[in-house]
Amino acid sequence: MTEQFDIIIVGGGPAGLTAAIYTRRAGKSVLVLEKASMGGQIASSPKVDNFPGNPAISGIELAEILYTQAEELGARIELEEVLEIRDGAPKTVVTDYNTYTGTAVILATGMKHRTMGLDREETLPGVSFCAVCDGAFYAGRDTAVCGGGNTALQDTLYLSEICRSVTLIHRRSQFRADPILVDAVAKRSNVTILTDTVVESLLGEDALTGLLLKHTITGESRELPVHGLFEAVGQQPESALPRALGIADEAGFIPAAEDCLTPAAGIFVAGDCRVKEVRQLTTACADGAVAALAACRFCG
Ligand code: NAP
Repeated sequence: MTEQFDIIIVGGGPAGLTAAIYTRRAGKSVLVLEKASMGGQIASSPKVDNFPGNPAISGIELAEILYTQAEELGARIELEEVLEIRDGAPKTVVTDYNTYTGTAVILATGMKHRTMGLDREETLPGVSFCAVCDGAFYAGRDTAVCGGGNTALQDTLYLSEICRSVTLIHRRSQFRADPILVDAVAKRSNVTILTDTVVESLLGEDALTGLLLKHTITGESRELPVHGLFEAVGQQPESALPRALGIADEAGFIPAAEDCLTPAAGIFVAGDCRVKEVRQLTTACADGAVAALAACRFCG
């Protein structure tokens, strides 16, 4: 028999779990569906030091706290991948295991990592997209991080604690990361910073042994021997579900104003997958609360 809920939340990151907390406090029956692991991107953040009220907590710890809070309030949380959402009254949500119905749906599907377009980058052992998850495999070894944003700089700091060396490779001369992180990285004695540099190809047959680098100004090429490459070149939206519903923009984000209402009645959006200016943990949580209260109003 198809289980029915007032509100189904797709995505167990900070936006989705905040929405679960608010909707449960409003007394609604709530199902959270997450395809990978609770916490979304935040779970791979070694240290979250800009969440008000908690100056230093790891992403995994924060994800666990949010998860426990939502679960203890009575949200049902399942690790299932949503394959299809059929609009209607109620809405039908099909996962890889079950089919559910909900009066309202909140899409909090977040973002997934961007790739650099290198041959074998998603299959060659030694290439990773998560320093927190895989960094320990490279303890005492030589590694590289690619990217110039907050994630790349945070990953560099994290890896420099456990690896013999970290080479930070950025395609421009200016970092877009917060200056406080750039300053901290510059002070690490086992970190080398290569700016105006791109990775041309991955070296190694069965596992990564090095990178072929190219200086974008001089055109000079060189090989850098490393055992691990951590790609931290940004994120792109999880766009399959909103595209299928016809509510995604060209880039795959879901347009909605600060009220988190999408053009589809009863479908709300929260977090990084929404068209917005600032994508931060705090703004994801804020969206979660706004979308939750709007969904509760819709349910009546
Ligand atoms: P991001 O800010 O979008 O930075 C991506 C970086 O990758 C940029 O430096 C970009 O270079 C580079 N890049 C993109 N495509 C590339 C390619 N094909 N080859 C080489 N380099 C490439 O992504 P992010 O660092 O993951 O951060 C995402 C969001 O989360 C940001 O809003 C960030 O502030 C936030 N965040 C915040 C914290 C925090 O503690 N406050 C921590 C992590 C993330 P260009 O600069 O040349 O474009």
